[in-house]
Amino acid sequence: MKLIFASNNIHKLEEARAILSDFEILSLAEIGLHADIPETADTLEGNSMQKADYVFEWYKAHQCSMPNDVVGCFADDTGLCIRSLDWMPGVYTARWAGEDCDPADNRAKTLRLMKGKTDRFAEFRTVVTLILWDKPHSLSAPHKQQFVGAVEGQISEEERGEHGFGYDPVFCPEGQVLTFAQLPTEYKNTISHRARAMKKLADFFCK
Ligand code: IMP
Repeated sequence: MKLIFASNNIHKLEEARAILSDFEILSLAEIGLHADIPETADTLEGNSMQKADYVFEWYKAHQCSMPNDVVGCFADDTGLCIRSLDWMPGVYTARWAGEDCDPADNRAKTLRLMKGKTDRFAEFRTVVTLILWDKPHSLSAPHKQQFVGAVEGQISEEERGEHGFGYDPVFCPEGQVLTFAQLPTEYKNTISHRARAMKKLADFFCK
């Protein structure tokens, strides 16, 4: 059985394939969806739903050219919430340093704003939205459900590490002095915000 993941991010796809190992996980590129999916909601829940809905509508419109055995799709949206910055950037995490920013700009802005702060507590939060049209559901009445995962930690004083992506070099998860980018990917994939949300998704299928 196949599930479409609304992503082309290689790290996220690896994570999803490890956790949802009973399914074949298809990326957006693999189903020929190359458009930039809008993320204009003002909550993680809203953006996650918007991405999943977009893929669902696209699947319906292109159904005859889609691979067989696709039973649903899912999308994720992640926010980094920093307590001493009034829980920002939150839903603005991807474009924190401006519309055309890259991950290095986002990390630099974070470290600049955190300079001198003693309270460095932060939380990564992911909302995964599943849209399922496998029986007893259908394309006209799909099942929609959201799963939330979070990991608490600290913003580091400087960038450290080479693994992962995004804010990984500036985030030390709970109980660790190393950043996500210094820790083995396999370890990140057991405790991360997204891993926790995806595990809830996998448990939903087990039930
Ligand atoms: P999105 O939910 O994939 O759009 O991600 C929102 C922002 O969070 C982007 O800037 C990502 O780089 C960042 N991000 C998402 N997941 C992670 C992660 O696991 N580690 C570090 N940064 C992440």
